[in-house]
Amino acid sequence: MPLDFELSEEQKMLQNSAREFAGKEFTRDKAVEWERQHDFPWDIYRKVAQQGYIGMHWPPEYGGQGLGVAENLIVAYEFCKADPPLGASLLAGTFGSDIIAHNGTPEQKAKWLPRLAKGEITSAGCFTEPGGGSDISRVLETRAKKSGNAWLINGSKTFITNASTASIFVTLTQTDTEARPGYRGQSEFIIEKNPSVSVTPLKGKMGWNTSPTGEVVFTDVEVADDAIIGGPEGMNRGFYFALGFLDEARLSVGNMAIATAEAALDKAVSYSLEREAFGRKIAGFQGLAFRLVEMATEVELAKSLLLRGSWLYEKANEEPALREESIKVASMCKWYGARLAVQSCDLMVDTYGGSGYFAEEDVSRWYTFAKQFELVEGTKEVQKNAIARIMFGNEIAKTH
Ligand SMILES: Cc1cc2nc3c(=O)[nH]c(=O)nc-3n(C[C@H](O)[C@H](O)[C@H](O)COP(=O)(O)OP(=O)(O)OC[C@H]3O[C@@H](n4cnc5c(N)ncnc54)[C@H](O)[C@@H]3O)c2cc1C
Repeated sequence: MPLDFELSEEQKMLQNSAREFAGKEFTRDKAVEWERQHDFPWDIYRKVAQQGYIGMHWPPEYGGQGLGVAENLIVAYEFCKADPPLGASLLAGTFGSDIIAHNGTPEQKAKWLPRLAKGEITSAGCFTEPGGGSDISRVLETRAKKSGNAWLINGSKTFITNASTASIFVTLTQTDTEARPGYRGQSEFIIEKNPSVSVTPLKGKMGWNTSPTGEVVFTDVEVADDAIIGGPEGMNRGFYFALGFLDEARLSVGNMAIATAEAALDKAVSYSLEREAFGRKIAGFQGLAFRLVEMATEVELAKSLLLRGSWLYEKANEEPALREESIKVASMCKWYGARLAVQSCDLMVDTYGGSGYFAEEDVSRWYTFAKQFELVEGTKEVQKNAIARIMFGNEIAKTH
């Protein structure tokens, strides 16, 4: 029996329709204009929702299609291949809301997921604090304190995607400051946008300006018990919810990064076949051809890793013994895919030569976008720490 790397017929149809949709809608001119205006692409976002691409893995009763992680990855790959920064901004529109989908009460899911799936609102996932983002297991500075029947939330989160557009902030807080280790006293809250939540857009980002990033400050924000994700059982379970979310996120960020690497490679190859210098197509210069060939090989390797990561992720839901292997491969996808996106964009700029350094070409927009993959949702060091813990055990791979 040959090994099967084929997508199913339904998956191929989904892939084709996502490719066609993104090819038609993600035009370069619009992407460049939004990037210049530092604008979230709301009108395309709503079209993405109309096509049913938001929350595809959520159950139909909450506005989704009940599909799996593989289908999500297939669509995300096509979006990022069409235009990496624009595709990723759209995919990040519901950031954090999978914590509600996976861990919320039926009321919380019914209240928020259908509105998110329709593209009416965006969400933000708030983990990082000014004191550090890599380690969320410590005692957090964002505190939720019981006051009569309500909770009072105070603290600040930084580098938050969708800070200025979000209607809800899925926020990791410290509910028990005495808990040791600190993560045992953390809870996730759904905080609705209100005057006690102040947002300051962060200026001067290197790139990716179609995805707003900001600081969010909570000052005596009053919420009821029903804002705790998972209800009373969700109390002090926030860290575990966040970990589950970040496990899946490693695979989806790796997926977007590998799509970016492939898109940049394709662009570089096309240009190398177009551009003539010194009387020949530049693809005919062996020094450049070898670099393109080596990158094509690495992209193939990364795609195989991604397939295995996606397979393991779903398989581990049925066979918990595969969980660690799944986390290990997903972390590999994240750090390796992110590095490849940066390297492939770098090669694309080199291939374009001087014109690659100018804004009228897409390449500089993609180049500055790609770097964030190495930082968000666990830096490469954090991913390698996770892999080392699995390879060598907790005692040997102590990280702090
Ligand atoms: C564009 C963008 C969007 C983002 N969106 C969000 C969002 O929506 N929500 C959110 O919560 N956060 C978001 N972030 C924040 C991001 O997740 C953090 O920047 C990231 O987790 C790193 O945290 P930090 O910046 O505090 O760096 P630090 O934690 O200060 O780390 C700095 C450096 O030290 C290294 N380091 C730290 N600890 C260790 C260790 N134990 N071992 C080895 N090396 C270590 C890190 O790898 C890194 O290189 C976003 C960031 C960016 C750039």
